[in-house]
Amino acid sequence: MEIYGKKRALDALERFSASGRFPHALLFTGEKGIGKRVLADYTAMMYICSGNGRKPCMRCNECRRAEQHIHPDVVYPLSVMEKGKYNADDLRDFISGCYIKPNDGDIRVCVFESLDSMSVICQNTLLKFIEEPLDFNRYIFTADRKEPVLQTVLSRVTAVAVDPADRVEFAKALSEHGIAATRIEELYGLFGGNIGAALKYEENGDDMQYYNAAVKVCDAVAEKKELECLLAISSLKTREEIFAALGIITDIFAQAAAYKSGKGTAEKYPDRTKRIASAYSLGAISKMYGEAQRLYGMSFTNPNVKLFAAECCGALFDAAENANRR
Ligand SMILES: [Zn+2]
Repeated sequence: MEIYGKKRALDALERFSASGRFPHALLFTGEKGIGKRVLADYTAMMYICSGNGRKPCMRCNECRRAEQHIHPDVVYPLSVMEKGKYNADDLRDFISGCYIKPNDGDIRVCVFESLDSMSVICQNTLLKFIEEPLDFNRYIFTADRKEPVLQTVLSRVTAVAVDPADRVEFAKALSEHGIAATRIEELYGLFGGNIGAALKYEENGDDMQYYNAAVKVCDAVAEKKELECLLAISSLKTREEIFAALGIITDIFAQAAAYKSGKGTAEKYPDRTKRIASAYSLGAISKMYGEAQRLYGMSFTNPNVKLFAAECCGALFDAAENANRR
């Protein structure tokens, strides 16, 4: 198992380990594709490794089985939920199974992916489970965003942010997948240091609706075409996709603002960054960035995806217009 980048997160794990107080519940946050699952797998190995010295050793029976996802005590509840989505009944069944001692060793690791996709009911079910931790259970959570996670849940986990890889690490990871250097440069321009998103895009760009919509939104904003912006964002069918797109849009506006103010080089998303920077004043870009950030940080209260898409588009264009009028 190779881990690229993620230095800050790995340093945090290292510190927990050295202090002898490794948290019972960890939450990895960061944008889609950034490598939260890889880090969750790696951390699961830290919990169950039976090797001597530095953990995970990656060589012992526990580590190897965990790496192949065949360890009976490293469990992924999302994979046993009906239709791959959390629901309260399946979650309760899963939890009741966790009151029994682990199969092989002393520790069971529950890896709850996409905590931010859990309903309030599911999160409350989960809360009771993590509030009174059993000696033999450990919990790892992943989430693209923290906002949809209940404060009561957040207060019981140690959150660790997962960063994008830098240019060198990004190139190394992609070249191991046989991608040519020139293409790697292009992909860095498209995805910054998000290795997972770049690889997925190479595999099948059509699967990345949220990414395609995000760049179309930015192009429409640069060309001041509000209808095209609306069409792009309305093409997304789920709230998860809209928030994933908003994450990228926020990032692009941040780059554009830095570039416009002379503080950034636009090495990430260069095309979109430069187009937005030339179309708008710094004030307008900053306003749009603020709006994108606000929308990205929203807990999802509007159940209607189409209405929320319209709200996003309206908010971005209003922000630009208001800034220009002043
Ligand atoms: Zn090991």
